[in-house]
Amino acid sequence: MLECSACGGTHDAAGLPGVCESCGQPYLVRYATTPSPSPEAKRLLGERRWNMWRYREWLPLGADEAPVTLGEGATPLLPTARLGARYGLRDLWVKDEGKNPTGSFKARGLAVAITRATRAGARRFVVPTAGNAGVALAAYASRAGVAACVFAPSCTPPVIRSQIQSFGAELVLIDGHIGDCGAAARAYAAEHGAVDVSTLREPYRIEGKKTLGLELAERLGWTLPDVIVYPTGGGTGLIGMWKAFQELRASGWVLGAPPRMYSVQSSGCAPVVKAFDEGADRCAPWPDPVTVAAGLRVPAPLGDRLMLRALRESGGGAVAVSDTQLTAAARELQTQEGIDAAPEGGATLAAVIALKECGTLSGDERIVLFNTGAGWLYRG
Ligand SMILES: *Cc1c(COP(=O)(O)O)cnc(C)c1O
Repeated sequence: MLECSACGGTHDAAGLPGVCESCGQPYLVRYATTPSPSPEAKRLLGERRWNMWRYREWLPLGADEAPVTLGEGATPLLPTARLGARYGLRDLWVKDEGKNPTGSFKARGLAVAITRATRAGARRFVVPTAGNAGVALAAYASRAGVAACVFAPSCTPPVIRSQIQSFGAELVLIDGHIGDCGAAARAYAAEHGAVDVSTLREPYRIEGKKTLGLELAERLGWTLPDVIVYPTGGGTGLIGMWKAFQELRASGWVLGAPPRMYSVQSSGCAPVVKAFDEGADRCAPWPDPVTVAAGLRVPAPLGDRLMLRALRESGGGAVAVSDTQLTAAARELQTQEGIDAAPEGGATLAAVIALKECGTLSGDERIVLFNTGAGWLYRG
């Protein structure tokens, strides 16, 4: 069943659901089995392959159904002792999502969205993107044998543009930001009968992102860290992980408090940080968004309420760092730890340094940073 995250209205999960018909806010998936899944499902994990579908009981997938997959998930969780020592953090980790097919964590959400929508009969897809969601849609559409069209800003890094085209998708460059691409994608969807898989305009990308949280818990022996720092654009990673932690706790698979979640954005586009600091529950659209961290250039996220709620419920916060800081921190991850960080991944290290300096984090907490994408996509 689908439940509107704002008005509580419900919708049948069959077919091709978009946003809530009465209020226009995102739907979230609610499973019939609560608490789901059983302790028996946990034992079954021992026999399963290491990709994100090992958590199939947590995902919208029928018992005999085969997903559209390229082997996404099961990314490394790396201890970073050298950087930890430099910044006085004894237990600092990086989850390297750049190791996913298509080079970013976007693979997780698009794999689930394409699986569900093609099952419901969709043959043509469209997405507005700052870059990586376009690469992921292009690859998963090719895998499923269906058509994809991607609307991206003309300033999208050249390697990302060529990746989108190499998987056979149509790429349309727009002179504007992701919000402008969104309007163009909706017009395309209406004209061509394409399914719009924009962030939170369909409910299943979030389900795929839940596996970030499930995998983290399993790798840490079914415990959760004290702190998570996540680079935030549209919010799917943050919202999906928070949903996973709630479902994990409801099922009894994980005990104890959930992590404090910290969102990091670039000071050139920081609507979530501003709303958090002002105590607001919605974001005001950020005028003239500018940042080299393409995935963070989202001036008016549809999931603003859900993100702000998760940050506050978790006892975390929101931090802005400059492009200079996040670029330097990405380079530090590369040269000090051999992790090929995207600028967005660099932002998490820059944020943790700032949070430690102001005393928000203590040196012995277990902290996990998410490098959401591969650095090579942004070079050249
Ligand atoms: C899309 C993207 C983000 C932001 O993702 P959300 O979870 O939607 O906020 C961060 N980093 C990279 C590399 C991205 O591609």
